[in-house]
Amino acid sequence: MKKIKLTTKNSDETKALAGKIMKFLKPGDVVLLTGDLGAGKTTFVGGALNSLGYLDHVVSPTFNILKCYFEVKPNVFHIDAYRLEDQNHDIGLEEFIEGNGVTFIEWPVYIPELIPQNHIEISITRIDDNTRGIEIYEEKDNHKELFDSLEAK
Ligand code: ADP
Ligand code: MG
Repeated sequence: MKKIKLTTKNSDETKALAGKIMKFLKPGDVVLLTGDLGAGKTTFVGGALNSLGYLDHVVSPTFNILKCYFEVKPNVFHIDAYRLEDQNHDIGLEEFIEGNGVTFIEWPVYIPELIPQNHIEISITRIDDNTRGIEIYEEKDNHKELFDSLEAK
């Protein structure tokens, strides 16, 4: 079990942290993003994508549920399950979650049956307008180097 707690002072710091974390992620990895609306989950995914050279503005896929970024390596799949709360979840998301990319999932609580045992959870808490507490947690020790590098700073 690994857990680390950090604080960011603005959205650019959150994006930079996401870029740092992205370096340690491989196809097949699943990252859950938890936290209230406006916490910074989509901002985090944007930072991860920007670090891979994707320079467009990243918006939440809330209205699409899934966005695929095949133009970056590793491929990134961004799921926002918020609107699946009262809906049939059987829409093929597992093909992406189990697929050959890094999958970020906002609101994983609404698709519990699709969340693999092996995942990293990033929980973001609003402290004030620009400050966020960011907790990075992994049950298994699959990303030791990631946690070592975060602890080293
Ligand atoms: P979510 O996807 O969790 O609903 P968003 O990423 O869409 O949240 O929105 C987060 C908002 O909070 C953005 O407007 C962002 O600029 C702002 N913000 C302020 N400080 C931070 C920070 N330290 N980290 C991330 N976002 C921040
Ligand atoms: Mg969002």
